[in-house]
Amino acid sequence: MCLGCDVVNGVVVPPGGIIYAGEYWIVNHCVSPALLRGFLIVQPKRHCEHLAELTSEEAAELGTLLQRSAAALSAVVHPMKVYVLSFGESVRHIHFWVVPRYEGIPTDGLKGLHEIVVERRWVCSDDEAARIAEQVREQFT
Ligand SMILES: [Zn+2]
Repeated sequence: MCLGCDVVNGVVVPPGGIIYAGEYWIVNHCVSPALLRGFLIVQPKRHCEHLAELTSEEAAELGTLLQRSAAALSAVVHPMKVYVLSFGESVRHIHFWVVPRYEGIPTDGLKGLHEIVVERRWVCSDDEAARIAEQVREQFT
């Protein structure tokens, strides 16, 4: 049971569906309940739990895709900043959070993430997340 694999395989459909599929990685909005509008996830198509185990091809695509994801997100939601981070503790499948920091979210990154992830102060509707996913998808084409 792996949420990452479930999204890759279509068992779990995030709001707006898969935004972009590269050769080795996909981009999607975070699953419902969406913690924040525009909270994107970049994850490999194959189940892999350690960055050290990526192939050089996977690693190369990752760099480009993180940059493209941040650019696409910025064009759509115009955040003050875009955070990119990866923990992989509760969902061990490698995944990067690409998180827009909006005005009003604390500029102390950890405080801001606490509001978003723990306090869930910035949750948005699935419809809103799906609309943003669609707009981000357009940026990729
Ligand atoms: Zn997996």
